[in-house]
Amino acid sequence: MPSPAGLMGQMMAMPLLISSLLKHAARHSGDTEIVSKRLEGDVHRSSWAATEFRARQLAQALARLGCQPGDRVGTLAWNGHRHLEIYYGVSGSGLVCHTINPRLFPEQIAWIAQDARDRVLCFDLNLLPLVEKLAPALTHTEHFVLMTDRAHMPAHSALPGLLFFEELLAAEDGAYVWPEFDENTASSICYTSGTTGHPKGAVYSHRSTVLHAFASALPDAMDCSSRDVVLPVVPMFHVNAWGLPYSCALVGCKLVLPGPFLDGASLYQLFESEGVTFSAGVPTVWLGLLQHVQSQGLKFSSFKRTVIGGSACPPALMKTLQQDFGIEVIHAWGMTELSPLGTLSKLTSRQLGLPAEAQQRLLEKQGRVIYGIDMAIADDVGQALPWDGQSAGNLLVRGSWVISGYFGQAASPLVSLDGEPGWFPTGDVATIDADGFMQITDRSKDVIKSGGEWISSIELENIAMAHPAVQEAAVIACPHPKWDERPLLLVVLKPGASVSREALLSFYAGQVVGWQVPDDVVFLSELPHTATGKLQKLKLREQFRSHRLPGA
Ligand code: AMP
Repeated sequence: MPSPAGLMGQMMAMPLLISSLLKHAARHSGDTEIVSKRLEGDVHRSSWAATEFRARQLAQALARLGCQPGDRVGTLAWNGHRHLEIYYGVSGSGLVCHTINPRLFPEQIAWIAQDARDRVLCFDLNLLPLVEKLAPALTHTEHFVLMTDRAHMPAHSALPGLLFFEELLAAEDGAYVWPEFDENTASSICYTSGTTGHPKGAVYSHRSTVLHAFASALPDAMDCSSRDVVLPVVPMFHVNAWGLPYSCALVGCKLVLPGPFLDGASLYQLFESEGVTFSAGVPTVWLGLLQHVQSQGLKFSSFKRTVIGGSACPPALMKTLQQDFGIEVIHAWGMTELSPLGTLSKLTSRQLGLPAEAQQRLLEKQGRVIYGIDMAIADDVGQALPWDGQSAGNLLVRGSWVISGYFGQAASPLVSLDGEPGWFPTGDVATIDADGFMQITDRSKDVIKSGGEWISSIELENIAMAHPAVQEAAVIACPHPKWDERPLLLVVLKPGASVSREALLSFYAGQVVGWQVPDDVVFLSELPHTATGKLQKLKLREQFRSHRLPGA
């Protein structure tokens, strides 16, 4: 782009590359620890310097396997030091790190890995049976890498030519120089199933990732510093653990990675033994941790603050953490398409003078945007709505770490605001007050978010509709104290047909993964429709807002 004044700046053009974060951490915080609770049964201790060395070995190993710049390397892995080494070794060498959620239905995982054309798939030890099942469908995947050493290999594997992460690294000398390339090069891909149809890939760039790391570490965002000990509970397959593997390298702090051990007792033990000061995760995780801590009469000795997001943070959870445990809760909103951070709720200096109740109400909102993100609310014809805290509209965003399109899709998802193109429609409905505090009030996209994971209502409806007794079905999100939302199936039966609740629910077996099966069924004589015949989901959500789900 030409400069409007005709004069260009005379500054060094150092590209914003992910490898620069790791080089910085290795040079300036080299002996700062990376602690991992591993599936091998131990607590592994590493450092930023060791991470950089091993990431270089990995880059060499991947080149030896024939990987070329731009090739995708998939991961099916929990939060651990090898996953961190993959993040940097893959992206740093110009390959693209594709993290996949192992909790999805196997067919969906296979679809995602095929869509991204992953040439290599690295996976954790306990996911070997899953990968063995998937392998025949992964026609683009040439190499399967088990993230352990040969000694931990189970007796049999149906995977021919299985490689071992530790052997691949051991064969390399680490004498590798991180390459320099255009900062707009793709660094990683994350698929979201937060919309209808097949999951869609958000392709992050080195530039967007580094800028996101800068902004998210700032005091009015996650407030990360070298003095922190950070334990990301949010998985590294959920939007890059909200960018923490990058922002922690940027500030050079200690990182504690819990593996798949996310139950209250395991987490508490790790928080205490490693002196964790800061964490981040979806509300469900904190409910589990709190239940353990409260039932055992325990306290936290180092834990000071946490970011809670991915779903609305229940006010009661926020109050308990703040008032009973002295933990600052930072409520945040974001999306896969936003890398993910968009807004965080922190008080401004003027608001520090407000009565406690008013402060609390603000902190319960999703918060204010951080620099790098611009937001607006719009009516259904794309006209901007006022920031009065009352008008609710479609939440639109744009910015340096917002996607401009989805992987492999020609159609642009972007829309116009007041006739100006280039805004990403989030599918969330929100108000914004005069101080810029955004509050999510509803969702226009037809999906359910349970414990931080998406469930497609349409997929569940299609399955119910395939039942011979069902005339029409609607699946809606029903509020749930532990999971935030759970699917509730509403059905109209065919005239004269009958089927029990249990029979309908067991009809889902084998068609979706167990946690996606609806929690309950309500039989109705009809469902509400709009004039154009569309189901009125909003009306149904309101009608069943206080429906009591079994076991809730
Ligand atoms: P994902 O792409 O899986 O991170 O999901 C993003 C979506 O999760 C958003 O568009 C919202 O619908 C929802 N979400 C994320 N954070 C919050 C929050 N703090 N409150 C309410 N909904 C949230």
